[in-house]
Amino acid sequence: MWRGVIEEYRDYLPVGAKTPVVTLLEGNTPLLPAPRLSERVGARVWLKVEGANPTGSFKDRGMTVAISKAVEDGAKAVVCGSTGNTSASAAAYAARAGLACVVLIPDGYIALGKLAQALVHGARVVQVRANFDRALALVRELAEKEPVTVVNSINPYRIEGQKSGAFEVVDVLGDGPDVHCMPVGNAGNITAYWKGYREYQDAGKLKRLPRMMGFQAAGAAPIVLGHPVEKPETIATAIRIGKPASWYGASAAAAESGGMIEAVTDDAILEAYRFLAKEESVFCEPASAASVAGLVKVGAPPGARVVCVLTGHGLKDPDVAIGQIAVPRAVDADLAAVMEELAL
Ligand SMILES: *Cc1c(COP(=O)(O)O)cnc(C)c1O
Repeated sequence: MWRGVIEEYRDYLPVGAKTPVVTLLEGNTPLLPAPRLSERVGARVWLKVEGANPTGSFKDRGMTVAISKAVEDGAKAVVCGSTGNTSASAAAYAARAGLACVVLIPDGYIALGKLAQALVHGARVVQVRANFDRALALVRELAEKEPVTVVNSINPYRIEGQKSGAFEVVDVLGDGPDVHCMPVGNAGNITAYWKGYREYQDAGKLKRLPRMMGFQAAGAAPIVLGHPVEKPETIATAIRIGKPASWYGASAAAAESGGMIEAVTDDAILEAYRFLAKEESVFCEPASAASVAGLVKVGAPPGARVVCVLTGHGLKDPDVAIGQIAVPRAVDADLAAVMEELAL
């Protein structure tokens, strides 16, 4: 039986015999072959379906380590700023550990499903009239005044846990892919994957390091532009970030691997979002689709082995889904009316 990220990858993580393991059995997510996407881009593409994690996003990989270490260090409460998924994950793992959880979210810019998760798991949720970057700054200030542990990806244990995604890819493929595509928001995850691939290389488990391709939304693309974005805007709220905390890590991953950080438009993100749902049967959230929009934009060498990380589950953001497609109108309850509606 799969035992969760900490037990499965204990040798690579900063945990000891005394660390209390707080887990929801995260990780071990599908690496799903994507035949139609492969045909479209002329490469062999796999989708790392991170929506299959316990709270529906990759954030659980880092949260199991961050919360376990917080308990080990005697914390009573944790705090995070969040575009949504960090708060959902923090709330769930804190509840499991019996810790109080406070989350600061940008007012009006968080997907409904994620807000529901944080509330139902019992977090104290504060909506702040500000964007994510300001919310995170407030979290840092709060942590200086009060005895609370920050569980944003500025907490190094988050990055440590998230690198397990790279281990799983290599464990399935038997080596690194040629190209690795993923969305970039606060840039913790690309930093984590690159760390994971390199650690597996050091351990002799991987011969070939992938090119790391990170994709930001065009309206929130500070790394691509080379300067912070004051008012980031994109439909992909999980990557609506103007001043990434792990900016340096993302740039280093791209530079050291011969990869790149690129921007993709909201239209391209939504096209990839619909393509994934209709052609590959994976319902991911808009931010996740940025990885595939990016792959379609920049392409891949013929026959290359490509992994696209789909970071979170589509059900988290029903508003975007419904906004994409006309909601069906009601018809009378007789067969003639149904057939007429179907134009049969
Ligand atoms: C957090 C998140 C991202 C961005 O990850 P970073 O580590 O902030 O770059 C992308 N997609 C989803 C669904 C997320 O929850």
